[in-house]
Amino acid sequence: MGKNVDIKLLESIVGKENVSNHPAIRYVYGADASVHQSMPDVVVQPRTIEHVQEIMRYANAELIPVIPRGAGSGMSGHTVPIDGGIILDMKRMNRILEIRPEDMYCRVEPGVVDDDLNRALKPYGMFYPPSPASSRIATIGGEIGNNASGIRSVKYGATRDYVLGMKLVLANGELVNLGATTRVEAAGYQIHRLIVGSEGTLGVIVEATMKFIPLPKLRCLGMATFDKIEYAGDAIADIITSGAEPSMLELMDHIAIKAVNTTLNMGLPDVEAIVLFEADGKVKEAVDYEMQTMKSICEKHHGEVKAMSYDAQERTRLYAGRKKLFAALSRYKEGLACTALADDMAVPYSKMAECAKKIHEVAEKYGVIMTAYGHCGSGVMHTKILMDPTKKEQWEAAKHAVEEIYDYVHSVGGITSGEHGIAISKAPSWKKARKDLLPVMRAIKRALDPNNILNPHKLMDAPEDWLTATPLRYWVKA
Ligand SMILES: Cc1cc2nc3c(=O)[nH]c(=O)nc-3n(C[C@H](O)[C@H](O)[C@H](O)COP(=O)(O)OP(=O)(O)OC[C@H]3O[C@@H](n4cnc5c(N)ncnc54)[C@H](O)[C@@H]3O)c2cc1C
Repeated sequence: MGKNVDIKLLESIVGKENVSNHPAIRYVYGADASVHQSMPDVVVQPRTIEHVQEIMRYANAELIPVIPRGAGSGMSGHTVPIDGGIILDMKRMNRILEIRPEDMYCRVEPGVVDDDLNRALKPYGMFYPPSPASSRIATIGGEIGNNASGIRSVKYGATRDYVLGMKLVLANGELVNLGATTRVEAAGYQIHRLIVGSEGTLGVIVEATMKFIPLPKLRCLGMATFDKIEYAGDAIADIITSGAEPSMLELMDHIAIKAVNTTLNMGLPDVEAIVLFEADGKVKEAVDYEMQTMKSICEKHHGEVKAMSYDAQERTRLYAGRKKLFAALSRYKEGLACTALADDMAVPYSKMAECAKKIHEVAEKYGVIMTAYGHCGSGVMHTKILMDPTKKEQWEAAKHAVEEIYDYVHSVGGITSGEHGIAISKAPSWKKARKDLLPVMRAIKRALDPNNILNPHKLMDAPEDWLTATPLRYWVKA
C-alpha cells in the first residue's frame, strides 16, 4: 500500500475520466465477495489493448502491483489488492467483437458479461454453457481467470472446455496471441489453457476466443425429496454411474431448504435433502428416457419425486429456491453473516453424502452454522459459514472448521476448490495439500512475470494464514 503511483501519467494513457483514486472508489474496489478487504492506490479502466499495454509497461518499470478485475465477484479475495497498487478494471472492454455461427466461435473483449454473451448468442440458436450462478455480473475475463463453472457443468464442462484462444498482455506490456480459432490445435504449448484458472497472476486477457454450442430444444426439470441426506448422496452417485446424462444435478440440505423457506417463503418440502435433476436434448423421447432413469434411481434410494416439468415457468419455480439460496443464507438469522469460506470443494461422487454430514458435524463442533449444497453432479459441494462476524472467537472457530473440512476433503481424494478458485482464503489448505505443485507454479510465474507485479500474494504466494492476510470486511470487536 502507498506506492507512488503517477496518477497524471495513468490519466494521460486512458483519459482522466477512467482513473480514480477517490477514497470511496478505492474502498469499494478493495473488496470482492470474499471476507477480505484491502484498498488499492488507484482504479484504472482501460478501453483498448494499447491502454493495457502502456499501463503494464509503466507498472512493470515501477514495480507497481496490477490486479486485473472483472466484476469482482470472486469468493476468495481474488481481486483484493493485498499490497495496494493498480486495480485494472476491465469492465469497459466489453464489446462482443465477432460471432461466427458457421464456425461456432465468438471473439469477445474480457469485460463482456456472461448473460450478455448468451443473450447475443440466442438468436443464432446457440449458447455458451459454463455460466456460473453469478452470470448476471461475471465477466468472461473473470470466468477464464477462475476457470468458472456452473449448474450445467455436469453435462457441458467448465470454462476451460470453451476457451479456444486469447490475446494476452504480459507483465512487460508485450501482446501475445494464444491458441487458435479452430476446434483442434496441436501446435506446441497450450499456453491459453495455462491462463485458464491463473487468477490474474500471469497476464491480462484482452480478448478471448470462445466456442459455443447449439441450444437444446427441450429441458425437463425434476425435484426429489429425501428423508436422509445419505439417500440423496447415494442417488446422486448412482445417477452419475448409471450412465444417465443429467444436464443439472443439484443438492440442497435442510439448512438450505430452511433458509429459502423462512427468508423467501419458497414453500419447499420440509425434508433433510432435495435433489434437483434436469435433462435436455433435441428429442422428447430421449429426454423422457433420461428423466425416467433419474426418477427411478431417486426412488430406489427412498426419494419421492415431487415434480417433473418441461414448462419453462414451472422449471423456474422449481429452481427458484436453489437460485436464490445465496441471498437467502445472507438473511438466515439476524446478526449472522454468510461468509464464503470453504465454499466450493470438489469431492468424489461416492463421498458426497459423507461430506455433507462432515460439514454439519464440524459446524456443530465449532458453534457455527454451515450448509451443504451444490452442483453435486459435477462433484462440487458448496457450503457457507454463517456466524456473528463481530466476534473474534467466531472467526477463530471458522478457521478451525475450514481447516478440518479441507483435511477431510483431501483425505478422501477431493480438492480444495472445484469452482471458485484459491486466491487468499483457500490458499493455506490448498498449499498444504499440493506442496509438490508450488515450485512448478512459482517457476512459471517467474518466467512470465519476473517482477511479480501481476496480482501478487495470491495462489501459491498467498499468506499462510487467511485470517490475518488482510483486514476483514467486517467490524470485529477487539
Ligand atoms: C452469488 C455468487 C454466485 C457464484 N456462483 C458461482 C458459480 O456457480 N460457479 C463459479 O465458478 N463461480 C461462482 N461465483 C464466483 C465468481 O462469480 C466466478 O468465479 C466468476 O467467474 C468471477 O467473474 P468476475 O468477472 O467477477 O471476476 P473477478 O472476480 O473480477 O476476477 C476473478 C479472477 O480473474 C482475474 N481476471 C479478471 N479479469 C481478468 C482479465 N481480463 N485478465 C486476466 N485475469 C483476469 C482476476 O484477477 C481474478 O483473479 C459466484 C459468486 C457469487 C458472488
